[in-house]
Amino acid sequence: ARKPKVTVLGGGTWGTTVASITARKTQTLLWVRDPDIAKAINENHRNPRYLAGFDLTAGLRATADLAEAVGDADVLVAGVPSQYLRGVLEQTVAHVRPFIPVVSLVKGLERGTRKRMTEVIGEVLPGHPAGVLSGPNIAHEVVQGYSAAATLAMPDHRTAQSLQSLVHTSRYRVYTSEDVVGVEIAGALKNVFAIAVGFGDGLGAGDNTRAMVITRSLHELTRLGVAMGGRAETLAGLAGMGDLVVTCISPHSRNRRVGFELGRGKPLEEILASMHQVAEGVATTTAVIRLAAERGIEMPIAREVDAVLNHRQPVEETYRGLLRVTPGH
Ligand code: 13P
Repeated sequence: ARKPKVTVLGGGTWGTTVASITARKTQTLLWVRDPDIAKAINENHRNPRYLAGFDLTAGLRATADLAEAVGDADVLVAGVPSQYLRGVLEQTVAHVRPFIPVVSLVKGLERGTRKRMTEVIGEVLPGHPAGVLSGPNIAHEVVQGYSAAATLAMPDHRTAQSLQSLVHTSRYRVYTSEDVVGVEIAGALKNVFAIAVGFGDGLGAGDNTRAMVITRSLHELTRLGVAMGGRAETLAGLAGMGDLVVTCISPHSRNRRVGFELGRGKPLEEILASMHQVAEGVATTTAVIRLAAERGIEMPIAREVDAVLNHRQPVEETYRGLLRVTPGH
């Protein structure tokens, strides 16, 4: 049988990495906004802006033409930041073939609507099976071939299995699931909590504090995830606890970095202006707080992150009592 053609939308670190993996298995086209990056990928097999210095699969092709990118695709993979996904998908509607599956790589919620990315996909591209690939996957490590794993959730098992074969390799292990909601909520929430851990690290809190915040964050993530229809096992798995842990401890994490620099006293506007990639947790926090309030769920850590990001609460206030300001008790 002819192998399905994959199109990945979004040439950031993770979209590029996933495209480089699927290009080893099947014909893959990467849509990037900037024609210079498309050219660099086609000519040098590198993404100089987001993954400088790392070789991509030689067969990976890139284009900056969205209509061309999606027109021939059998599978769409979406790696565009959450606040831009709807806008990009709207431009594909006239070109994308009906019924092809769409897999989100995006770990965020749409701020105004509080929607998950597969809900956004369902609204813009109705009739397409929509799922999500998510796990503890720092792009810089995956692109270098360090072993990692992730969960691919699709509404039905057969689609999940057929897509699994397009991304699974000996060093990037992909497990299938039907819990789209659980995987998506976990991916969105862990970014909010990584900001909280970053606060503590920036303020100089200890490892006990970090472990406490991660553990209590898992509790909050699980409560909201289950209330929204996710399964507890999903939230305790790779896409849940796994991704929460890596994002809270990795020096590569953009979300942890936002928290860390706030903890060091840098203003949010300055931090965001200095980053050339999106820290998804910033916009997602607003959506999470509203979802929790609607369901009457207590999320004290997420609430503190919201207070710092959106209500100018000093970071020290958040960590009051948790810092080693006075030794002893
Ligand atoms: P950041 O967006 O914080 O870099 O998170 C990376 C990630 O999702 C790892 O799985």
